[in-house]
Amino acid sequence: MKTNKTAHQRPVVMVIGGQDPSGGAGLQADIESIMAAGCHAVTVLTAVTVQDSASVADFMVMEPELVLAQMKTVMADFPIAAVKTGMMGSAGNIAAVSDWLKQNSKAPLVVDPVLASNEGDRLAIDDLVPAYREKLLPIATIATPNSEELERLAPAAKGQSKAAAELLALGCDHVLVTGGHGKTGKIHNRLYSRNGKTSEMSWPRLAHEYHGSGCTLASAAAAQLALGEKVKPALTIAQAYTYQALVKGERLGKGQWIPFRKS
Ligand code: PLP
Repeated sequence: MKTNKTAHQRPVVMVIGGQDPSGGAGLQADIESIMAAGCHAVTVLTAVTVQDSASVADFMVMEPELVLAQMKTVMADFPIAAVKTGMMGSAGNIAAVSDWLKQNSKAPLVVDPVLASNEGDRLAIDDLVPAYREKLLPIATIATPNSEELERLAPAAKGQSKAAAELLALGCDHVLVTGGHGKTGKIHNRLYSRNGKTSEMSWPRLAHEYHGSGCTLASAAAAQLALGEKVKPALTIAQAYTYQALVKGERLGKGQWIPFRKS
């Protein structure tokens, strides 16, 4: 992976998401992935979750005013080279964050549309799909839905390529659909771009379920964009990094395996 050995200062990546006390997903996954790439993470908390490596028991979502206040404070202090969103928790948070970023940020934006946990547990107080479609996806450089999230974000579209095209038509520049949640022998991640190009990367399916694989991938991609990589190489590096983090993952708790996000 590209690490920041020559630049004078580490690029700063702003991540907006929830805290997962198991350390598998959420802001901890973001920080670890971003550090591994040689960048610094500034972290805007949207929600506190109560979860272990197996399931989500509860969560509390921050009010949009508090999320915005955190963003404004770090954005006034640091030069933000890329932004990544994860768990937003409410439609109000998506609207507040999107409106602010649209007016005040030119940094590339990676949107991991978190609608539920890997195990299907709820992670939002209301239906996030309209807010993602109307607010956050239109300003995204890259969206990283898994195949189930894609179906929920574009329910009327028939098939993956039509659903991805629908998200691109909303304004998003690139859609990386990850296939980790299926049952096939290989994982196929497909990149759809607004210029009409598509490409695919395939990975052997690992034997276990992992906590925070999507967070790891999206944050690693944001870090590569912050380092100056273009979208396609950034995603290639981020996918290879995520695959290695999963290969090296361990079952530290009693549930899903925890990625090992060393560089
Ligand atoms: N953010 C938080 C705080 C979470 O708890 C979870 C899942 O449990 C996610 C994000 C989504 O994780 P991923 O997309 O990596 O499965």
